[in-house]
This record gives sequence, structure tokens and C-alpha cells, in this order.
Amino acid sequence: MASIAHVADWAAAHEILIRGACFAAVFALMALWEIRAPVRTLLLSKGLRWKNNLSLVALNTLLLRLLFPVAAVGMAAFAAERGWGVLNYSALPLWLAIVVSVIVLDFVIWLQHVMVHAIPVLWRLHRVHHADPDYDLTTGARFHPIEILLSMLIRFAGIVVLGPPVVAVILFEVLLNATSMFNHGNVSLPARVDRVLRWFVVTPDMHRVHHSVEDDETNSNFGFSLPWWDRLFGTYRDQPRGGHEGMTIGIHGYSQPRDVTWLSGLLALPFRGRISGYVINRRQWVDSEDASE
Ligand SMILES: [Zn+2]
Ligand SMILES: [Zn+2]
Repeated sequence: MASIAHVADWAAAHEILIRGACFAAVFALMALWEIRAPVRTLLLSKGLRWKNNLSLVALNTLLLRLLFPVAAVGMAAFAAERGWGVLNYSALPLWLAIVVSVIVLDFVIWLQHVMVHAIPVLWRLHRVHHADPDYDLTTGARFHPIEILLSMLIRFAGIVVLGPPVVAVILFEVLLNATSMFNHGNVSLPARVDRVLRWFVVTPDMHRVHHSVEDDETNSNFGFSLPWWDRLFGTYRDQPRGGHEGMTIGIHGYSQPRDVTWLSGLLALPFRGRISGYVINRRQWVDSEDASE
């Protein structure tokens, strides 16, 4: 019987194949599900959206390969060779080190997500993800190249401190990729299924709240894979006020397709316009009794 260590070695040797196959499989499944049972009517055509969103994904993939050919998995192998990171000092069994690593790396991504919403310059970058006036599986992969690079550097830092097994990083990347396509899907699960499932993974209805134009709803449900951080840290919100079909998706004041859909507009978006009152130091604080919380 293949031991977990053998599976880990095989996965490390076939990383690109595994990630590519998982991406293609989840993409195809979600695309079919969205076509068969969409929740919301898209404002713009799927063809136009996919052409632009997927061009951005291709550009980001190319850029990452050029700048960081070893990527997160390579960094984990590098840290392991040198014995860097907490887990490389511990005597945890491999399976437990994998579980701990996936959970900790997911928490790092959650913290990063909260940070890019709060800090003005970082919100400029992250707006590219939120300016999409529609919500479908390609929204899940739509990030500005600079945010992608920043995200990789933060992941490197997390890996160097944590020292996760290489296979844990592969698993984490595959899960993040798959759950991101799943929870950005223009689909809905039956309410009862969703209620149970969202204790284990972020569901489409849970993450859609985060894409609302309403500031308080955007400041909720920062999780991508694991749903626990929002519940633990007080940023969880069950449903959008306007309902999933009635709510408005996107950012106030950004609606022109050439700005929020075309690739050229997405690349330019961080450098355009003033920062809204959304970020942490531009908010209007109300000095009244009911704002005492
Ligand atoms: Zn966000
Ligand atoms: Zn999102």
C-alpha cells in the first residue's frame, strides 16, 4: 500500500500536472453548472467577460513563471533543504504537518485579504477583483498582476516561517484554486445544503456577500477556502440584505465596461481615480450613541 510519504513524493514530482488537471476539471464542472443553473443574469456577455478575465489570468501566470519560476512549492522545498521554519524543527507526523500547514497558510491568505481591503494603496490593487459588475467563476481568478506578485511574496514569507511539507503547499494551492472557482460561481446550493457546507468550505452564497457594493457587506466574509476565520474574528455575515438576485455586485461609481471589464481597463484601474471613503482612514465616523459599538 502506498504510504502518505510516497504519495507526497509523487505529488512533488508532478506538481504542474496535478495543478493543471485540477484547474481544468473544476473549471469545466463550474462552467457547466453556471450554464445550466445560473443564479443571476449577467450584465455583460460571458464571451466578453471570459476573454478579458482569462487574458488577465494568462498574463499573471506568465509573469509569475518569469519572476518566480520556483513559486511557492519551490520555496517550500528550499526551506526544507535548509531546515528553515517551525515545522522543519518539529517531530509532527507528516499527515499532521500537512493539515496544520494548509490551515495556517489559509489563515495567512485571510489576513492578507483583510489587509488589502483596509490599506488605501492596496485597496487600489484589490479593486480589480471587486470592480467586476458580474460574478462568475472567472471573477475568482481576476487579480491585478501587482497584487499577484505581492501575494506570492507574502506566501514565501509564510512558508519560510512555517516550513510546510512540499506536498502541503501543493495541496493548499490546488484547494485555493478550486475553492476560488467554486465560491465565485454564479450558482447557488439548496439553502439547507449551503448552511451545512459553509461550516467546512466557503460557499458561493457566502462569498457573494463580500462582492456587494455595500461597504459593510464588502467588509464581511474574507475567507477563500476555510470559512472559520470570519466566524472566529467577527467578520462573518450570513446573507446580503438585497438577496442574492437583487443585490448589486461591484464598486460604487465603477460601471463602464472599458474600465471594469476590458483588460486594458483592469490593468489601469489601480492608477485611476480617487480612493473612495471605503478604506480604513477615509471613513466617515458617526459620533452618536448607536455608533458606539
Ligand atoms: Zn476582497
Ligand atoms: Zn472574491
